[in-house]
Amino acid sequence: MMGKRKHKPQRTCVGCGQVEEKSVLIRIVRTPEGVYVDPTGKRPGRGAYLHPRRECWQQGIDSSLSHALRTSLGKEDKDRLVSYLSSLDQEG
Ligand SMILES: [Zn+2]
Repeated sequence: MMGKRKHKPQRTCVGCGQVEEKSVLIRIVRTPEGVYVDPTGKRPGRGAYLHPRRECWQQGIDSSLSHALRTSLGKEDKDRLVSYLSSLDQEG
């Protein structure tokens, strides 16, 4: 058998456009109820990925997330994402 290498799934951050290991990115998911952060990465729905850092997050909220998720972000959606980022900031 050929040496089997563990393939690490990669995704593109919609904030900076960098390809990154999926495990370091945070998934954002579009649901019928709105746009949510999906820390488990398992929520069904159209997803997009962002680095857990302010520049990428802001870029995503301002423009690229709505494009990636093919929806428009309402105020509640944006507030929810911003507050999630704030909670990350407090840890770091
Ligand atoms: Zn990024």
